[in-house]
Amino acid sequence: MYRGGFDSIFGDGCEIGIDLCQHCVRDTLGTWLRVAPPDHGPVEESRPLSSPKGDSPA
Ligand SMILES: [Zn+2]
Repeated sequence: MYRGGFDSIFGDGCEIGIDLCQHCVRDTLGTWLRVAPPDHGPVEESRPLSSPKGDSPA
């Protein structure tokens, strides 16, 4: 859950919820999404969003 601060475009202190499965998040937000593998620690790292396992679409 993301809570907007004051002067948020959604309104002061509003809570923003989103209900998307990982596939929809990737399909919808993939352009802006950054995925960091856990073994690389907290460092954010861009990587291709292709799935090596070939997940079926939701
Ligand atoms: Zn989905």
